[in-house]
Amino acid sequence: MTDIPYNLASVRTRIAAACKAAGRPGTAVELLAVSKTFGPAEIRQAQAAGQRAFGENYLQEALDKQAQLADLALEWHFIGPVQSNKTRPLAERFDWVHGVERLKIAQRLSEQRPAALPPLDVCVQVNVSGEASKSGCAPAETLELCRAVARLPRLRLRGLMAIPAPAAAAADRRAPFRALRGLFDELRRSGLEVDTISAGMSDDLEDAIAEGSTLVRVGSALFGSRPPKA
Ligand SMILES: *Cc1c(COP(=O)(O)O)cnc(C)c1O
Repeated sequence: MTDIPYNLASVRTRIAAACKAAGRPGTAVELLAVSKTFGPAEIRQAQAAGQRAFGENYLQEALDKQAQLADLALEWHFIGPVQSNKTRPLAERFDWVHGVERLKIAQRLSEQRPAALPPLDVCVQVNVSGEASKSGCAPAETLELCRAVARLPRLRLRGLMAIPAPAAAAADRRAPFRALRGLFDELRRSGLEVDTISAGMSDDLEDAIAEGSTLVRVGSALFGSRPPKA
């Protein structure tokens, strides 16, 4: 049996230690619990142990869980790839969308965000590892895309998100996180009021925090390993 409260405490300890090692305050990094493939029962356990923000990758699965957890005050983050024909439920049902990589998607999210809700928090996803297969905008296009997203009325640009390639092969495991931080600093210098670097997962959150991540997205270290995707 996965002991979710125990895992949550362990991950929080890892985050605190990584912040300390980096000379950053322990409050500098937020934990997003990635609950994809896990059910409402696991989310309830994490919530009871003090976790409020949850990340989901698959739209229909997320909407089903939201319906079953409507009695809880949770913060929902969509961290999967965004398809342009599925932006409406994202705009209507989520607090954050991390994977914005094209202006067209951002425009749709802005147009579809209900007036009764606060602006949708978004991160622009950057392909820092530079592989053709990975999603995210090119580093060189990031500033221009962020400027355009920041002008959209119903979105609030919070910062950048990345999913670097698994570190095993890389000589410098921190390099992609450092590159992301460099782009974030460039946004700030250009006057954009961004505050979020969404980077780091179960296996590499220490590397991400050492390079300035402000939000780590952690799944398996909290909920256990996931069944392989069909
Ligand atoms: C699944 C996923 C995570 C969590 O990964 P773990 O290795 O289980 O911590 C984080 N971010 C994104 C975008 C994911 O798809």
